[in-house]
This record gives sequence, structure tokens and C-alpha cells, in this order.
Amino acid sequence: MSGKLYVIGLGPGPACWLTPEASAALEEITDLVGYFSYVDRIEPRPGLKIHGSDNRVELDRSRAALKLACAGKIVGVVSGGDPGVFAMAAAVLEAVENGPDEWRALDIEILPGVSAMQAAAARLGAPLGGDFCAISLSDNLKPWELIERRLKAACDGDFVIALYNPASRARPRQIFDAFALLRRLRPENTPVVFARAVGRPDERITLTTLGEADPGLADMSTLVLIGATATHLIERPNKSPLVLTPRSYGAER
Ligand code: SAH
Repeated sequence: MSGKLYVIGLGPGPACWLTPEASAALEEITDLVGYFSYVDRIEPRPGLKIHGSDNRVELDRSRAALKLACAGKIVGVVSGGDPGVFAMAAAVLEAVENGPDEWRALDIEILPGVSAMQAAAARLGAPLGGDFCAISLSDNLKPWELIERRLKAACDGDFVIALYNPASRARPRQIFDAFALLRRLRPENTPVVFARAVGRPDERITLTTLGEADPGLADMSTLVLIGATATHLIERPNKSPLVLTPRSYGAER
């Protein structure tokens, strides 16, 4: 009996940002696998077995999901946002690459979701309208020196930077180190955004500048955006400003 494995993106939080394709898969699966805070978003129903696990055990979780699919289950591995962005799609594929041959024969489908940077950008205007890059600040899986090298390269290339995983209880200082580096490389009036819990009841968006930003605002639910040299604000009467990175470089303002 051959099962199936879906890797499902749940979006940043609210149901309105869950795709119809992801909703349909959540109805179809027999087994739900994921980090507690993501599986908690799914309404339990008869016939659905829920396998919650702690964060940081992505490979174990992936192997468990692949075994269930091999045993004939229709398995959904869930991720917040998009499963391909610093999330479970890569963990599942790493497990497949290093696992038994039968895992390669499985039907695996990755269902995309709205990523945090898209949701954050939509709240602000069009900060990702020009070229941008996404960097995870977590050094759990790569050395800090590499993160610094990529931050410098992003500044050198004048990309807008979306910082995922900017801080956690175990890593409270790195966002301060990242800002110290960025402040040496980008002008202090560069727009900076801390977009916390976008789409959730405790959403908080802080628009500031590189010179004035308090890196302590970032926690594990925050996406940080650092503008490029072309990123600027459009002021509006009685409304918060819009953030724009124009599509054309060197555009007249
Ligand atoms: N796959 C996810 C990212 C996982 S990494 C995605 O595509 O969005 C986890 C990081 O994503 C968090 O530390 C935070 O930086 C960001 N993030 C996830 N959900 C968010 C939300 N609702 N608001 C702001 N940032 C969020």
C-alpha cells in the first residue's frame, strides 16, 4: 500500500492566508506531523492523527513522516509560511536524500504558502519591489561568519534584506551584532521594519530607520526588513507612510 506525503505551507497565521490547495490537503490527510505551534492551528477531526513535536527536531520529524507515508498513510507535514523558505520542505528532502530507497519512490508534494516576508511587505507597501534577498540569522545550522559574509554581500549588492529568525531566547544578541555591521555599511536613514506576528492578533509593525532602530524589538516571531539605498517612504495625510523600493534603479523621485 503506498501512501503520500504533502509538505504544507500554512501561511503566516490567519486562515485567509491559507491557500485552497493547502486547505484541501488538510482535509485529505490521515496524519498530521509538525512543530506543536503549527499543528495547534489545525482543527482536530475524526480520522486525523496528530503527531506534534518540539522545534529543532526537523530531521527526526521528517523521517517519522516518511515512515508513516511508506506505511500507507496520507501524511501532511506542516510549516508556517512557505514550506520551502527555511522550513520543512528542505528537511524532508534531506531525509529522503540520506534515507532508504523506498523513500525516493514515495509520492511527495510540496504545497506553497505565503511567506512571512510577503505578508510583512504587503502591510507596508512595496518594500520588496526591487531586488531583495532573504537571510536566516540563525546560526544553528551554519557558522556566524557565513551570516556576516552574506550580510556584507547583500549590502555590497544593494539588496533589500529580509531577516528571518532574527532572535530567540537562546540567541538574543545576534540581531544586535547584525545591526552593528549593517550600520557600518548602510546610511542611517535607511528604512527598517520590525514586522512581528504579521496576521495574528498580536501583530505589531514598527517602521523606523537603521540609525534609530532598537534591535531588541526583534524576537522569534519577527521578520526584519532592511531597505536598500532606493527604499524610501511616501508620506500621506492621516495615514502611515508607504514603503517603496522602486522597480527601476536610479528612478527619479
Ligand atoms: N517558512 C516560514 C519561515 C520559517 S523561519 C515562512 O515562509 O514564513 C521562522 C521565522 O519566520 C521567524 O523567526 C520569523 O522571522 C518569520 N515569521 C514566521 N511567521 C511570521 C509572522 N507571522 N510574522 C513575522 N515573521 C514571521
